[in-house]
Amino acid sequence: MIGLVDPHHAPPSRLPAYISASAAKSYLACSLRFFFGRVLEIRKPTTPSLHLGKAVHAALQAFHLARWRGTDDSPAVIAAAFEDSFVRIELEEGPVRWKEGEREKSRLAGLRVVAAYLDSPDALKSKPRGVEVSITETIPGLQVPLTGVLDLVTDVFAPVDFKSAAAKPDKRHAAFDHELQLVAYQLLLEAATGEDPPSLDLIFLVKTKIPQVIRISSPPADHRRKDRVIRMIDTAVTGIVEGRFHPQPGMTCLGCQYRNECKAWPALPKRRAP
Ligand code: SF4
Repeated sequence: MIGLVDPHHAPPSRLPAYISASAAKSYLACSLRFFFGRVLEIRKPTTPSLHLGKAVHAALQAFHLARWRGTDDSPAVIAAAFEDSFVRIELEEGPVRWKEGEREKSRLAGLRVVAAYLDSPDALKSKPRGVEVSITETIPGLQVPLTGVLDLVTDVFAPVDFKSAAAKPDKRHAAFDHELQLVAYQLLLEAATGEDPPSLDLIFLVKTKIPQVIRISSPPADHRRKDRVIRMIDTAVTGIVEGRFHPQPGMTCLGCQYRNECKAWPALPKRRAP
């Protein structure tokens, strides 16, 4: 059964134990979508593109870990890691909303894009400093600790975040769009180690017919950029604590899975009973 609750009557909650850049970005993009997904935890079927992105991410993680450990990182081994992840993630986190014939096309697209990365000049060549690096640190200016998991930290100490994309990204827009996440990673690395990264890198794996691998490097943030990002993240913390959740119609609605729930606002579906 689904009940209804008026969010305006919800009491303010306590400070969260920590905040991640992805949670802050999600809140700032649409606070109501954040509420449905991360507060009420309303689960929706996984979209094919999200599923493929997770399986590709797992294959790249296997490659980077093999580089780090000095174990077999051959294309055949990494392709097998992709195939395993494609099946396992569907079982563990599915169901996936496939259209007819879409699953096989998606699997083949994943294999192509992983192979394109391994074959590209941007594939990691040396032993990395870290893979899937989990960091939680107190950052001055933030009410709660900042947390994050960095896909890769290269041998020269550059954080790299991998993105799956359907189309070639615009370089300037991509760096601007992902500024919050990249600068958050810089803040975490600096707080944890005292070292400054030389750059903040995105690597896009573009799932076009002929896959493309595109690296977009930004210079490390100066004081002004860091301050801007800290204020953005802290705005999200304040909004979450004060229970400010409302529709923010815009481009985000195009891929939103909570449109029906959104139309019912300010009456909202409650978490389903277990
Ligand atoms: S449909 Fe748009 S406004 Fe409504 S919750 Fe989703 S993203 Fe927010």
